[in-house]
Amino acid sequence: MNRRDEQALHERVARLLADPHHADHPLHEALGALAEHCRSQQQQLERLISISDRYQQLALEAREVTQKRYERSLRRQQKLSRISDGYQAMMRERNRALYQASTHDPLTQLANRRLIDERLRQLDTTERDFTLALLDIDHFKAINDRHGHDVGDRLLVAIAGTMREVLRDDDLCGRWGGEEFILVLTQTRLDEARRIIDRLRERVSAVTITRQGESLSVTLSAGISEHFRGERPLATLQRADHALLDAKRSGRNRCRVAARE
Ligand code: GH3
Ligand code: MG
Ligand code: MG
Repeated sequence: MNRRDEQALHERVARLLADPHHADHPLHEALGALAEHCRSQQQQLERLISISDRYQQLALEAREVTQKRYERSLRRQQKLSRISDGYQAMMRERNRALYQASTHDPLTQLANRRLIDERLRQLDTTERDFTLALLDIDHFKAINDRHGHDVGDRLLVAIAGTMREVLRDDDLCGRWGGEEFILVLTQTRLDEARRIIDRLRERVSAVTITRQGESLSVTLSAGISEHFRGERPLATLQRADHALLDAKRSGRNRCRVAARE
């Protein structure tokens, strides 16, 4: 029975009870009591429905609050993780820049002495063959004296760029001192190293920079030493240094190979 039928029935019963013709009917009192009982049951049911509705409403509101709180916390976490990702990327970039700055020469961007020392120490612990070369610019002081330090710097940068072009990926080229460079050629025997150095010297001598219409270029002297099994890399380096001195004494713009002492 729907609510409208129920209401109509109540009204009908109320009308019957109110009708004075039925006042003395033997079922009048029982029908009145039944109608009263029905009304109170109805009220109780409505109260229960209203409590249940309110409860459901509260549960719905609580769920919405929890959902909103969850979404807010998720957004906060996503934001934090974005910040953390950005921070980590920045730290990685800083570390890379720091490593680059601590292992490379700021003027030429070639490896600095620290990196070369580290590589030589590594080579001391491995069985790999390698050849070292020390290269020194000839009469570089005269360039500085005649044209100024800035011009000297420009020439150093240009020479370093050419070295990078000529050398192979595995070769390590460093700035050993002011106008002195070192090459660490791994897995390279003396003959091949000699060819590489001669090509390098030729290419460097072709590097020119112009200043006030004048073309400036320089030559290189080089000393080469091939490492032999059991020799300390520092001793190999000393032999290359002696060979370089020999190249200078013999007239510069040349390459000398170190004798095995
Ligand atoms: P040699 O042929 O005997 O090597 O003669 P040199 O003049 O090249 O050698 P010397 O040792 O007498 O002079 C080296 C010059 O290199 C002196 C110094 O001012 C210059 N030099 C060192 N570092 C730099 C630098 O970073 N920039 C410039 N412009 N010059 C530098
Ligand atoms: Mg020099
Ligand atoms: Mg020098």
